[in-house]
Parts: sequence; structure tokens; C-alpha cells
Amino acid sequence: MNEMMISKKTTNIVDINGVLVGTDAIVIMAGPCSVESEHQILSIAKALKQAGASVLRGGVYKPRTSPYSFQGLGSAGLPLLKTAGDETGLRTITEVMDPRDVELVSRYVDCLQIGSRNMQNYTLLKEVGRTSKPVLLKRGIAASYFEWLNSAEYIWAEGNKNIILCERGIVSLRDGLRYTLDLSAIPYIKSITDSIYRGYPIIVDPSHGTGLADLISPMSKAAIACGADGLLIEVHYNPSESKSDSYQTIDYQQFNGLVSQIKKLAPVVNRTTLV
Ligand code: PEP
Ligand code: MN
Repeated sequence: MNEMMISKKTTNIVDINGVLVGTDAIVIMAGPCSVESEHQILSIAKALKQAGASVLRGGVYKPRTSPYSFQGLGSAGLPLLKTAGDETGLRTITEVMDPRDVELVSRYVDCLQIGSRNMQNYTLLKEVGRTSKPVLLKRGIAASYFEWLNSAEYIWAEGNKNIILCERGIVSLRDGLRYTLDLSAIPYIKSITDSIYRGYPIIVDPSHGTGLADLISPMSKAAIACGADGLLIEVHYNPSESKSDSYQTIDYQQFNGLVSQIKKLAPVVNRTTLV
């Protein structure tokens, strides 16, 4: 297997309202872990647009380990995310956790995110499969490639072929890290010739994958070097103030530095542009 084969294997290009994922161009999705207020999401969106991101992330329904942690703004956050997208021209993505919310969330965002904890929620997978919205399917924290690809198949089988995979770290032996970012997944899955892999683009989330802000830049570069089609990164104007995932969230300066390094790296691995 050579590098050309790896970068050519993404055949199922996904169109997020004009932003194509899976071409030679690297797509950067970024934003806060959670939408916190109109001011917060709008100011972050403006900074990210200027820095070179093309898709704005922001959770409104948050899957938190403790029921006493900030749960997100819920559906009240959807119009805030939409406004930030409309005002900056960024496409938007948010997680949907409940099949009953799929219709509502689809009206506000350009891409639906299925979180790690719901990778095998088959009712939810079928529901998003009945829409025509692009779906970002995160890998479960203990899911094999076979299980992950079969989850994608649940969406595909309902008729929605707009599927992007997202490696976000798995449980393994790690000291001090939140998860182990399994970058082998990218070249390996892209080399599968069996129909279980339908040429989906694969992006990488180093934020949840490591849990540490200092590792976002090195692991992002590693992800692009091994053939990832894009990145999903948590950014906040003041990470320490972030209502969720503050330790893994980077600030604007770090994000700008990361984007400039990705731009330099891209041509080395036959990825010429950022969208
Ligand atoms: C997220 O991206 O907001 C998130 C909760 O990620 P994951 O499902 O990977 O934990
Ligand atoms: Mn998060």
C-alpha cells in the first residue's frame, strides 16, 4: 500500500452544504465543546472563520458522565448555532442524541453528529439514515472497525449515503490521557476493499482523543500525515472558562498556529488546500 492509494481511497465524497469532505482539500471543523451563549458562539465563529475553519461545531445536547454537569443549552442552543453559521458563512454541526430530536436538529444545522456513546444506538442511526443530512459518525470508545463500519451501514441502508467517519480515541492502556487516538484506523480502513467500507471520508478528533490541549497540534499533524480528510477541534476564546472539556480545548492563538502548520504539511502528503 502506498500513499497515493491511501489518499485516493475516499470515494464517497460528502457535501456539507457546499463544503466537500473527502477531496484533496482538508476540512477543518472547529468550535467550542458546548454552545454557551449567543455571544460565545458568535465570537468564536468569527475567529474560526478568519483562521481558516469551514465548519462550526458546538454541542447543545451534551452527553455528560455526571447528570449534575452542564448538560448543554438543549434546543435553545440550536438557533444560536444557526445564527453564528449564517453570519460567518461557516457550515454547522451538532450532536443529536435522541431520535425524537432528529427532525428539529436537521432544520438548524448542516451536519448531524452521532456521538461516541451513541455509535450503536440503532434506533438513532436509522432515524438519521432517513434524512438526507450529512452525518458524522464518531467511533465508540470500545468499538472495533467492524462494529463502527456496521453502524455506518445502518445509516447507509436507510438511504442516507452522506456519511463521514470520525476517529475520536478508544479505551486502552493510557496514563494521563483521556483516550488513545487510534490513527491506524485511517490508513487501515481506507485500505479495506470489502464492501463493509464504502469509501467514507475519515476525519480525526484529537480533542476528545487525547483530552489534553498540548497534544492537539502534534496529533492533528499526525492525523493529516496518515491520510485524514479533516479535523474536528475544540476551540474557545478562554478554554479555562469553557463549561465543558476545558482541558482539551485550545485558544485562538493555538488554533491559528495549528492551521498554519497544517497548511505547510498538506502539500507534503498530496493535500494541497484547506476548504
Ligand atoms: C463531542 O464531540 O462533543 C463529543 C461529546 O464527543 P464524543 O462523542 O467523541 O465523546
Ligand atoms: Mn467535548
